[in-house]
Amino acid sequence: MKYYDKLIFELSKKGRRGFTLPKNHWADKTSEMPKELLRGEDAELPEVSELDVVRHYTNLSNMNFGVDTGFYPLGSCTMKYNPKINEEIAALPGFNHLHPLQPDETVQGALEVYYNLNQSLAAITGMSEFTFNPFAGAHGELTGLMTMRRYHEMRGDDKRVKVIVPDSAHGTNPASAAVCGLEVVEVKSTPQGTIDIESLRPLLDDTIAGIMMTNPNTLGLFETEIKEIAELVHGCGGLLYYDGANFNPLLGKVRPGDMGFDIMHLNLHKTFSTPHGGGGPGSGPVGVAKHLADYLPNPKVRKGNDGLFHVIHNEEATGCVSAFMGNFGVLLKAYTYILMLGKENVRLVGPLATLNANYIKECLKDSYKLPIPTVCKHEFVFDGLLDKFTGVTTLDVAKRLLDYGFHAPTIYFPLLFHQAIMIEPTETESKETIDSFIDIMHKIAEEAISEPDTLRNAPHNTPVRRLDETTAAKHPLLNYRELLQS
Ligand SMILES: *Cc1c(COP(=O)(O)O)cnc(C)c1O
Repeated sequence: MKYYDKLIFELSKKGRRGFTLPKNHWADKTSEMPKELLRGEDAELPEVSELDVVRHYTNLSNMNFGVDTGFYPLGSCTMKYNPKINEEIAALPGFNHLHPLQPDETVQGALEVYYNLNQSLAAITGMSEFTFNPFAGAHGELTGLMTMRRYHEMRGDDKRVKVIVPDSAHGTNPASAAVCGLEVVEVKSTPQGTIDIESLRPLLDDTIAGIMMTNPNTLGLFETEIKEIAELVHGCGGLLYYDGANFNPLLGKVRPGDMGFDIMHLNLHKTFSTPHGGGGPGSGPVGVAKHLADYLPNPKVRKGNDGLFHVIHNEEATGCVSAFMGNFGVLLKAYTYILMLGKENVRLVGPLATLNANYIKECLKDSYKLPIPTVCKHEFVFDGLLDKFTGVTTLDVAKRLLDYGFHAPTIYFPLLFHQAIMIEPTETESKETIDSFIDIMHKIAEEAISEPDTLRNAPHNTPVRRLDETTAAKHPLLNYRELLQS
């Protein structure tokens, strides 16, 4: 135990203080408070200095891993750096002190940000209009599918209850479809990893509401037959939904609207550099083609002929999916990111992310099994170590990476491979960082042969060792006292 691992309650010394409250400031007020709200006894609080508190929280924060502390090659998740200017803009008092119930004419600047971000994302994706109301990617999927249902419903086409989802899809896709009350039909991939058109054809009839896809798919492969898929699905009366959570490889290069997609979501907390932090706050804007714009949920922002921005509600809309208008602070950060990059640099994001992914793939394929050897987009998948005889698993490799100061990649996803390791470096890492990652991955492959037990028992240097993952998920220790005592 390091000296600073002492619990802040153990550090407590009677009478020690880190603050001074104005004298009697509250004494006068207590008389105004209802009796039942008044505390009878003193709260159990540690008595510590300001420095004790600063160290306590700083040390706790260092027990966690974040993109600000190290490389985070999480496939299917785009863990790129979050530029600090985003935070500064989102913290400006003119934005930060707004209230969601203020009249439109007093929040014109905020509504203009909404409007401009909407225009920017529409230009980037080839969609007509976005809603920013959903709080996450999966929430965006649900909103997009509700919009799809609404479209069929408004046309009196009520037989359409099925959604086609490829077997390589992100787990949230079938889950969102099920939550939306739609039936999931799986379509198989070819051995090359893309949708098998011949398996798709027989599924298409007048019960199909649409198909959910991502392109490049979760294997990092571009579905080159997308035009034909779009024709087939539209031909049977269905719509195409694009999961744009990881939009990085296409940013400024290829537009889902041009590929034939009707509805899509983006994850601002992936592609648009806003933090993922502890599961949120996130933002999963949903964009649609023109013929679906009326069905997007309320409220919406429109620019009037008077040049002013107005919050409107329309009747055809798919109800509301969140209180007010989404996570405005997150929208500000994404808008800042787009403006900071500018039109020209937005186009560099995809190629650089793609180059980085292919570089890692090529450098490591002599140590890790590469089931799909073609050029990838922003991410790719290994199927565990090349040398299987050691019995060292993908989980062991992932845990060992933590000892070397790297976050583990995504593991055991996609389900197509038993020992999947999915790596996505993003464009924000330098060649030096990527090279150290490659060196360590090689070193781990050597350790798998020379000292497999070190890997099986990894991690060795982290605040908590290897956890029983089921118990950790079902009964998490969320209190630092429990954690330090465990
Ligand atoms: C992350 C991700 C999602 C879900 O986004 P959340 O914000 O975590 O709900 C959906 N699809 C894909 C492909 C993703 O990578």
